Amino acid sequence: MKLVVDKTKCCASGECVKICPTKAITIVEGKAQIDMSKCDLDGICIPACPQRAIDYLDES
Ligand code: SF4
Repeated sequence: MKLVVDKTKCCASGECVKICPTKAITIVEGKAQIDMSKCDLDGICIPACPQRAIDYLDES
């Protein structure tokens, strides 16, 4: 499982950056980017996004 950003939806509001407790999200070239080595998958960034651009991706 990981968190992914839909870059077609992301408007770089920065709300996810502010709320992430592990500082896993940065804005890179105008889009949110999640560093999965820092992410603990708590998912609080999902409802924080005004564009609903972040969601879980089950790779299994
Ligand atoms: S799931 Fe939690 S730790 Fe991971 S990017 Fe979102 S807010 Fe940060």
